Amino acid sequence: MPDYTVKDQMQSDWTFAPERTTHAITVSKQEVIGMGVQALQTIGSDAICKVCIYNGGSCCQGCHHLADGIGCQQRNTSCTAWLCGFLKLLLHETGLLQEWNHFWDQVPGQGFREDSTPETFFVEKHLHLPDIRKLSDALAADLDELARSHIAIGFIITLQNKMDKQIDQLDECENNPKKKNKINRKIKLLCSPFHRFQKELQQYNGK
Ligand code: SF4
Ligand code: SF4
Repeated sequence: MPDYTVKDQMQSDWTFAPERTTHAITVSKQEVIGMGVQALQTIGSDAICKVCIYNGGSCCQGCHHLADGIGCQQRNTSCTAWLCGFLKLLLHETGLLQEWNHFWDQVPGQGFREDSTPETFFVEKHLHLPDIRKLSDALAADLDELARSHIAIGFIITLQNKMDKQIDQLDECENNPKKKNKINRKIKLLCSPFHRFQKELQQYNGK
């Protein structure tokens, strides 16, 4: 857990609705990383990661910053901002993906497993995600069940990559409704084994 304290000044200056931002404020790199980690905790991503890592899908695999039994030794803005296909799905289906992306678009210097983010910089939008742990837990339980019934090595990684690819493609076809519908159908198909997740999602959307 990184150190993260929101400065008093930040709380008074910041407008918490991203669409109603009034002015930029200075934040430190560590604060931004803290906000990202805090948001991931709030949405309950750890339940999904637990299943994924157990089934060999960890996105930290092979990284030289990973210390055995300790975890990441070099937390950076890039890895904090990055979402895999499962986490993208969670935020996409709850309508929160844009908020996540807009927040991280403000953060300069993101790379692969490291950053060149300045120690301080300006941002206008805050990151404020709701507690959707019930949905994360449901998705984690579905993934766990799927992984147990599909013993093929790499099943979870393949599924995660497929999800990632489809959701990324949605971004590229904003002005092409036909293509958008096609991709949405593919996402729906990929989600079809996620029974618990879909049930929770219906409740979340008030259906
Ligand atoms: S790939 Fe996704 S679910 Fe798996 S450990 Fe990384 S962030 Fe977590
Ligand atoms: S730098 Fe990124 S990929 Fe490497 S251990 Fe840390 S979080 Fe994982």
